[in-house]
Amino acid sequence: MFIREILVSPSRVRGVGPATAKLLENLGLHTVGDILSFWPREWEDRTVRTPLADYAHHQKINTVATVVAHDWFGFGRMRTLKLVIRDDKGTIAELACFNRPFLEKSFPVDTRVAVYGSFNSKYGAIQSSAFEIEREDASLARVLPVYSLTAGLSQTQMRKIVQNALADYGRGIDSELPESVRRTHGIPSKQEILARMHAPATLADARMAHDALVFEELFLFEYAIGQRSLERRGRLPDFATQNATQNATGSSAGTGTDRVAPPVPLSPRQQALLDRLPFQLTADQLASLDDINRDLSEGAVMARLLQGDVGSGKTLIAFLSCLAVVDAGGQCALLAPTELLARQHAENAARLLEPVGVRLAFLTGAIGSSGRTQLLHELKAGNIDIVIGTHALFSNGVSYRNLKLAVIDEQHRFGVLQRSAILDKGVECSPDRLPPHLLMMSATPIPRTLALSVFGDLDVSVIRTMPPGRKPVITHLAAHGNERKVYDFIARELAAGHQAYFVYPLIEDTDNASLKSAQTMYEELTTGIFPGTPAALIHSRIPEDEQRAVMERFRSGEIRILVATSVVEVGVDVANATCMVIEHADRFGLSALHQLRGRVGRGELQSWCFLVYSKNLTEDGKARLRVMHETTDGFLIAEEDLRIRGPGDIGGIQQSGYIAFNLADPVRDAAILETARYAAFTFLLEENKPL
Ligand code: ADP
Ligand code: MG
Repeated sequence: MFIREILVSPSRVRGVGPATAKLLENLGLHTVGDILSFWPREWEDRTVRTPLADYAHHQKINTVATVVAHDWFGFGRMRTLKLVIRDDKGTIAELACFNRPFLEKSFPVDTRVAVYGSFNSKYGAIQSSAFEIEREDASLARVLPVYSLTAGLSQTQMRKIVQNALADYGRGIDSELPESVRRTHGIPSKQEILARMHAPATLADARMAHDALVFEELFLFEYAIGQRSLERRGRLPDFATQNATQNATGSSAGTGTDRVAPPVPLSPRQQALLDRLPFQLTADQLASLDDINRDLSEGAVMARLLQGDVGSGKTLIAFLSCLAVVDAGGQCALLAPTELLARQHAENAARLLEPVGVRLAFLTGAIGSSGRTQLLHELKAGNIDIVIGTHALFSNGVSYRNLKLAVIDEQHRFGVLQRSAILDKGVECSPDRLPPHLLMMSATPIPRTLALSVFGDLDVSVIRTMPPGRKPVITHLAAHGNERKVYDFIARELAAGHQAYFVYPLIEDTDNASLKSAQTMYEELTTGIFPGTPAALIHSRIPEDEQRAVMERFRSGEIRILVATSVVEVGVDVANATCMVIEHADRFGLSALHQLRGRVGRGELQSWCFLVYSKNLTEDGKARLRVMHETTDGFLIAEEDLRIRGPGDIGGIQQSGYIAFNLADPVRDAAILETARYAAFTFLLEENKPL
């Protein structure tokens, strides 16, 4: 029997009357199974004894002493007992026994007692009023569980309830792990885990039991991922041997063996495009392309995440993927989060793909209705091979003839629902109701822990190296008030014919006068600081076609200074822009800063990024700036981001439906997660049978 199958009411447990049952109810404990799996929040190690004199160094201490006197203070009904104790080092302390007059009889003078509590110094004496006390001979030195409780229920009470439940119902409980997995990974029986969680002999025992439960939880989770992947696309996500996965962010997880295989032959249009390019693909681009070609040629459905820093050349790989699908007679949809970015992709596609014989279309929410009707018609008739656009690609009324590949750029900008909406378009037009291949792209590298959990059903390819000739952006930090130096530097770059971005956290001034806005600074920069230099302002409240025109003029070099909010975060590719100034940089998240900095250093010129920060920096703000100063490696930045902000908060993870675990924390338990995934997938492969 599994714990969750013990449905007996808590009131059957010794010591649980109707009132206590109600309190347990409030804690969400409706069955004895719930009580048994009400895991301690932490443990108190009372095997360690601390002399009273050291009280100030610990929140709570566990000490052994002798009762040397009984004192009373207060009057009448307020009379309160005070136990005076002395430990073996001769230190005296007073225990104020509010509402516990009965302690007088239990602990007469000369009794040896074990006391656990928080002490402080009052009126020159060491005192405690929050303590637990036992006779020393009755007190086993032990480790006690601490539960997250509700008012009215004490730790002592809860410990008793759990112990009673354990004694009466704790036998014959099965692990949810298969026997073979338990054996291989040295996971103790469920009974033993329960005993160690609720009544461990040592702290190490408790931690071991905790990790075993985390393993069980993550195993079941990864098992479900593997199973779903087998059902949906006929194969497991790639996974490597445990040693290989240690190479956390190396190229293409799990392809250690695949790489030995000769590359999958390129499709005719892929070959034609590569022949036309003035450069060679980088090794990582080639490897990623081969991962994709292998997926596409295998008969199973691809679900792959292509990660690579801004400017690493993902778009080209996406185009090449589309070409393989088009050569096989399928349609592709390339989805971008903003119209600006979609349009840029469409322009690049027109330049690169039309010459190799691809019929392209561009679809956004903004296209006029007559053109739109025609376009939708062609799409449905199969006269369009690749359609590029925004969320319009999966809106109602858009249907495809044979959608075989969905590419999602900047995937973190889309939620799970949008992801499945575009896949549904493929299911709708598939005779066998199969989802289309999915290629998600991310320039915000996803830390491996998240790749294994949130995106656990995806294969991952990584473009780690930049195309040759790129110089890493040099990053300088400047305190608010020292902008002058930064502006002087920019002036020299502008004089050399280059361009610059200035980014601000706000569009226009608000009541918060301490923050500069794009609007105000645009005026200041153009009139006071760089008079006569062509500049423009861009932010989300400017109509899309105006934004587009501004971008076009910046790209052509007509505009030299672009003053913006974080709208320039995605999709702008101007090689002549060598300077990025971000004011109030400490207000931006790490991934936004990384994306913004990625707007420069796009060509062969040396580029600079200036992060101007406020004087009253928060700790997190300081940490973010330090990371930006120290590295340009997007993977490191993503790991740091995760560390600083926690997983619940990282860019787009929330909307992509971050999984809530019970005990496991994929970041803290990253190592267990790796092992559990490996164990679950191996189990699925070797013993392909239900759990
Ligand atoms: P990403 O989408 O990863 O941010 P892009 O695909 O926009 O990057 O590529 C950035 C620029 O690098 C583009 O101008 C692209 O043509 C160019 N590029 C891509 N691959 C290579 C390569 N192997 N060698 C040289 N330049 C490349
Ligand atoms: Mg891109």
